[in-house]
Amino acid sequence: STVYLNGAFIPVEEAKISPLDRGFLFGDGIYEVVPAYAGKTVGLEPHMQRMFDGLAAIGIKCTKTMDDWKALIQELIEQNGGGDLGIYIHVSRGADVKRYHAYPEGVEPTVFAMANPIKPAITDDASTAKGFSVATTQDMRWKRCQIKSTALLGNVMHFQEGYAGGNDEILLYNEDNILTEASSSNAFIVKDGVVITPILDNQILPGITRKLILDILEKDGSIPFEVRDISMEEVFNADEIWVTSSSKELAPVTTIDGKPVADGKVGKVWEAAFKLYTAHKFEY
Ligand code: PMP
Repeated sequence: STVYLNGAFIPVEEAKISPLDRGFLFGDGIYEVVPAYAGKTVGLEPHMQRMFDGLAAIGIKCTKTMDDWKALIQELIEQNGGGDLGIYIHVSRGADVKRYHAYPEGVEPTVFAMANPIKPAITDDASTAKGFSVATTQDMRWKRCQIKSTALLGNVMHFQEGYAGGNDEILLYNEDNILTEASSSNAFIVKDGVVITPILDNQILPGITRKLILDILEKDGSIPFEVRDISMEEVFNADEIWVTSSSKELAPVTTIDGKPVADGKVGKVWEAAFKLYTAHKFEY
């Protein structure tokens, strides 16, 4: 595949980064994943705005503008055949002359992007959709989860806990037994026809898929929703659970800690919400 590295589009085999790169040494960088279907992106501007926010939060000065990013991503999509792709973008603080914690002066950020094939959901029919299985565990990550840092070891270790038990994801809760998110997704529940998702704060990533879904639900008006704290008791008693991300879109969860969610079938509210999402996602 063709990747982008520091100004050039090159074969992935030719892409080389210094071992002194702070992305490698410290996980000192910000990343994004932007989905594209048949070459058309979903949520490109909000994704790049989140990247600008993350770079500002950690003081990385990258001179690329929104238009620069749009052109870069368009070119990368074309060079990779324009199909269903997850565009991965990574800006690290760059390679210093030594390993030293303080932010260095005068170091150029490293900018890397690649396009990986993604599989769009095969169906929006609740009777044939694949249900996800999730585990649950206490959220042991750091207290700056709103920053989309490339330092993902906390997320990786949580994902692995779920994966080792045969699960697709793992739901996380804080010390007060309040749902935060999942290891690589945002989380939603449905109770009595109402869609509920946690508020945005330092405990969760402000997911773009979450944002699009809430915006689409609000504009459509047929499915009520709430943004508020959710206790784990509510999660275990939910009618439906969903996890959302740019690569999995809106995934219905049918098993939690080895037990069925409600009747163990993919829910009707998921079906309606996923149809709305599919109909409107390219508007973002
Ligand atoms: N939370 C975490 C921890 C994630 O890693 C992701 C996916 N990158 C999400 C939520 C979902 O975010 P988005 O919808 O923007 O992909």
